[in-house]
Amino acid sequence: MRVLVVEDERRIAADIRVALERAGWVVDLAADGENAWFQADTQDYDAIILDLGLPRLDGLTVLKRLRAAGVATPVLILTARDSWREKVEGIDAGADDYLAKPFQMEELLARLRAITRRAAGVADSILKAGPVELDTRSRTVTVGADAVSLSALEYRLLAQLMMHRGRVLSQSELIEHVYSSDESETNALEALITRVRRKIGSNIIETRRGHGYCIAADPK
Ligand code: CA
Repeated sequence: MRVLVVEDERRIAADIRVALERAGWVVDLAADGENAWFQADTQDYDAIILDLGLPRLDGLTVLKRLRAAGVATPVLILTARDSWREKVEGIDAGADDYLAKPFQMEELLARLRAITRRAAGVADSILKAGPVELDTRSRTVTVGADAVSLSALEYRLLAQLMMHRGRVLSQSELIEHVYSSDESETNALEALITRVRRKIGSNIIETRRGHGYCIAADPK
């Protein structure tokens, strides 16, 4: 799961990055509106966290431009405390949810999980595929009654596929959403799939030759 964090206050941006990475997200940062617009328009994110008060181009304008360009990525806006006007304008401009500053990191994570679930059409925070259960809150995976230990990378791969069950995800799509830029060993994807299959059972993740990988909507 890849997220774009748009925040010009460096300390807040750094804190958010640490918390999100710990929660299993791949994080890109943008510190002004122009940069945010460019990154969100050229890359495919699972979610965007968007501060509204930004240099160069304000967050509301970025959001309006994205929606006008057909970018449907779920967006969580960060608003000034007590500014109901910002919240209303943000939601009218296409934000999926808002959070007023200052906020608790746990609440940011919960709201982020909720908007990405809604975007993927998933109601529950526990994702299921056959005997496999993945809890997006505790980041734990079980197969039947057994807990399975996954590396951060393995977890991200499985979560990405389970969040989009029934859809074939191409190799490049998976690489973009699962690897951070400093883990860019692209030819390692097949090896990563193999490792995950070894841990959760070989029949859950299907290979669609020439297209990519998929967890069937209703695996056996
Ligand atoms: Ca700001």
